[in-house]
Amino acid sequence: MPELPEVETTRRGIRSALRGRRITGMVLREPRLRWPVDASLVTNLPGQQVRDVRRRAKYLLIELEHGTLIAHLGMSGSLRVLPLATPLLTHDHYDLVLDSGRCLRFNDPRRFGSLLWVTDDPEAHALLKDLGPEPLERDFHADYLARKARSRKVAIKQFLMDQRVVVGVGNIYASEALFRAGINPRRAAGRVTRPQFERLVQAVQAVLGEAIRQGGTTLRDYVNAEGTPGYFRQKLYVYERAGERCRQCGAAIRQVVQGQRSTYFCPRCQK
Ligand SMILES: [Zn+2]
Repeated sequence: MPELPEVETTRRGIRSALRGRRITGMVLREPRLRWPVDASLVTNLPGQQVRDVRRRAKYLLIELEHGTLIAHLGMSGSLRVLPLATPLLTHDHYDLVLDSGRCLRFNDPRRFGSLLWVTDDPEAHALLKDLGPEPLERDFHADYLARKARSRKVAIKQFLMDQRVVVGVGNIYASEALFRAGINPRRAAGRVTRPQFERLVQAVQAVLGEAIRQGGTTLRDYVNAEGTPGYFRQKLYVYERAGERCRQCGAAIRQVVQGQRSTYFCPRCQK
C-alpha cells in the first residue's frame, strides 16, 4: 500500500508538471473506484487552471480554480505524468489532460483509489476533518502526544497508527520508529514517559524523512511519478525481521500481532 512517503513523493513529482497548467480534457474510463467518480467532471474540469498540488495525510489535493480534486491512491494506485500519446495499460482509469500535451494518468489494479471533487474547503470534508496533525509539521511534538496519550490503555503502536492522533504513520514506520525510540510496542500509551515521547517524535520524523528523501518506498506495485518503481532502501531494524538478530544488541527480533497487524520489536532494546 502506498504510504505517506510514496504519496509525498508522488505530490512532488506531479506538482511541477501540473502547477499553472490548464486542464484541457478529462478522460474517465472507469468511474467505479472506491467511490464512484462523478461523471460531470468530464465537462466541469476542462478550462480550469491547476493552482497547486498539496497533501493532507495520504490524500493529494489538486487545487483548481473552482474547487479541489481529492485523490487517494488506495491499496495499489499510482499517478504518473505522461505524454498524452502513451499507450494505455490495463487499469488506467482516468486521465487529466493538460495544455502541456501531457496528462496525469491514474492506474489502479485493485480500484481502492478514489477521486472526489469538492467546491468548499477540502479540509472540512468528512474524510479529512477529524485527522490528526501531520507528522512532519510543527504541531506534532512530545507535549501533544503526551496529552493525547494521557490515561490511554491502548498499546503505543496502535495509538501511533491512529489517524486521529497523527496521520501517515503506517505499520512499517510505526515498528521502525518504536525501535529507534527504544519503546516496547505493547506498552500502554498512557505509560510512555515524557523522554520516550520526545525520542518517538524524533524517530517518526527521521524514518519518514529518510523515506521521502529516498523517493518513496515499499511495494512491488508502487510506481512513482516518473514511472520507475520505488524500493524501500531504508535499512530496516525490525520490520519483517522476525527471528533475525537485532542489529543493535544481537537478540532475536520478535513478531506479535496487534490489531490484526504484525508488529516487530527487539525484546531487549525496547522497554
Ligand atoms: Zn536489540
